[in-house]
Amino acid sequence: MAIVTGAEYVDRINKLQTEVWIEGDTVKEKISDHPVFKGVIKSQAELYDMQHQDHLKEIMYYQSKGKGEKFGTSYLIPKSRSDLEKRRKMSQVWARHTAGLMGRSPDYMNTALAAFASSVHLLKNQPNCFPEHLTAFYEYAASNDLSFTHTFINPQNNRSSLSCFEDDTTNARVIKRTEKGIVVRGAKLLATQGGITDEIIVFSAPGIQDESHAFAFSIPSNTKGLRFVCRKPLIGDGTNFNSPLSSRFEEMDSLVLFDEVLVPWERVFFYNNIRMANEFYKSGNFVPFALHQIVSRQVVKTEFILGIAQLVIDTINIGNYPHVQNKVTEIIKGLESSKALLLASEVQSLKDKNGVMLPDRTPLYVAVNQFQGNYPRFTEILQLLGASGMINLPQEKQFDSAIGEKLDYYMQGFEVNGKERVQLFSLAFDLCMSSFGSRQTLYERFFFGDPVRLSQTIYQTYEMECAKDFVKNIMNKK
Ligand SMILES: Cc1cc2nc3c(=O)[nH]c(=O)nc-3n(C[C@H](O)[C@H](O)[C@H](O)COP(=O)(O)OP(=O)(O)OC[C@H]3O[C@@H](n4cnc5c(N)ncnc54)[C@H](O)[C@@H]3O)c2cc1C
Repeated sequence: MAIVTGAEYVDRINKLQTEVWIEGDTVKEKISDHPVFKGVIKSQAELYDMQHQDHLKEIMYYQSKGKGEKFGTSYLIPKSRSDLEKRRKMSQVWARHTAGLMGRSPDYMNTALAAFASSVHLLKNQPNCFPEHLTAFYEYAASNDLSFTHTFINPQNNRSSLSCFEDDTTNARVIKRTEKGIVVRGAKLLATQGGITDEIIVFSAPGIQDESHAFAFSIPSNTKGLRFVCRKPLIGDGTNFNSPLSSRFEEMDSLVLFDEVLVPWERVFFYNNIRMANEFYKSGNFVPFALHQIVSRQVVKTEFILGIAQLVIDTINIGNYPHVQNKVTEIIKGLESSKALLLASEVQSLKDKNGVMLPDRTPLYVAVNQFQGNYPRFTEILQLLGASGMINLPQEKQFDSAIGEKLDYYMQGFEVNGKERVQLFSLAFDLCMSSFGSRQTLYERFFFGDPVRLSQTIYQTYEMECAKDFVKNIMNKK
C-alpha cells in the first residue's frame, strides 16, 4: 500500500472512532467533521496529498527495491548524506505548507519510529526486550503510512525526584502480564494530535526508577480502555480572515488515560526494564534524527516570522528606524544560525556500525536549545513592531458591513487599504497573541524537554578535551 492520500488518511481516522473527550463529551460524529478538529485534519490531509505531487516525487518518497513500493521519506533510515538531505527537504516541504506551526506533522513521529528501528540492536538479548517486534512494526507502519501521536512523560504531580512518588497510582504502569500481552493502567501526557492519528507510541522517558513504569509500545488509537482527554480548544473563531492560523493548525494536546489497556505482545518493544528506558533514548538514534527533523521545521517557521515582521514594517512604513532594523536583524541572526547548524549536522554526520548515517547531534541540540529562547523573543519583536495594530483588529464582517468603506479608509496602512492591513495584523496576532499563539510559544519552549535540562545535557556531553589541551599547549609553550 505505502504512501496514502489525504482522503485515505481521513477515512481511516474516522473509521477508528477513537474515544476522544472534548468539552465534557466524547466526539460522536466523524472526527473530521468536528468543529475543533476539522481544520487540522484538513491541513494534515493536504500534507499526505503532497506525497503524490509529481514535482515533489524526488523528495517525498523512496521506493523499495523489487516491487517499487513507495514509502514516505519520513520513514527513510538514512544511509548517506544525500539521504539526510532528502529527509531535510521533505520536512521543509511539509513545514512550508503549515508555516512550521504543526510541530507534530506526521514526519515527526515517523522519524522517531525510523530512529527506534535503526537502534534495534540495543534491544537484542536484553531482558523483556523484543527487537523483532519493533522491526516488524516499523515495516508495517511504513507500508501503511501510519500516523502517530505519542506520549513520553508522566503527569506533573510531583517533580521533586525524577521517579514517580512512592505508591504512585497515577502514572501509567504495567499492572499485569497475561498470555496475550501486558496490561497498562494510569495516565501519561501530553499527546499532541491525540485522537487524529492511527496509533499512539508510548515510551518511558529516561529517569524512571520503578520497573513497572519502564516500557515502550505502540497501539491503535481506538484500543479498548484508551482515552484521549483534550485540553481547551484554541481554534479562534474558525475563519480564515480572523483566525488564519488557529483555524488550520490547532493540533490539540491531550492527557492519555489507560484504563486496563491490553497491549498485545507483538506490539511490546520492551517492558519492566529500567536500564533500557534510559539507554534506548540516550544511546539510540532517536535524539539525532528527531532533532534533525525539528530544526528543519524551525528554519521554515523562522522564515515565516521574518516575512511577517517585514510585511508589518512595510505596512506602517517604519523601516527607516534603526531600532526596527536591529530587531529584524535579531530574527535574521536566529534564522541564519539555525540554517547553519542544520547544515553542520549533515556535514559532520557519521555512519554508525550498522551503516546508518547519523547527523551530528551537537549542532542540532544547540539549535533547538537556542530556539527555546529565540522563539519567545521573535514573538515579542512582532508585538513591539506592530504595537496597537496588533489589537486594533475589527473582524471580517465589520469590513463587509455598512461601516466597511469607512474602515477601509480610516484604517488604511502605507499603500494598503484597511482590510488588507487588518488581514495581515490578524495573522500576526494569531501567531503571537491569540491563545493558539501562546500555546505555540509554550510548545517551542518545552516540546523537546525542559530548556534548563537540555542546556545541561549540552554541557555534560560536550567534548571539552580539545579546548582544554589547546589552552594547555599555549600556556606551556617554551
Ligand atoms: C504544547 C506542548 C505539547 C507537548 N506535546 C507532547 C507530546 O506530543 N508528547 C509528549 O510526550 N510530550 C509532549 N509535551 C511535553 C513535554 O515533553 C514536556 O512539557 C517537557 O518534557 C517538560 O516536562 P513538564 O512539562 O512535565 O515540565 P516539568 O518537568 O514539570 O518542569 C516544570 C518546571 O520545573 C523545573 N524542573 C522540574 N524538574 C526539574 C529537575 N529535575 N531539575 C531542574 N528543574 C526541574 C523545570 O525547569 C520547569 O521550570 C508537550 C508539551 C507542551 C508544552
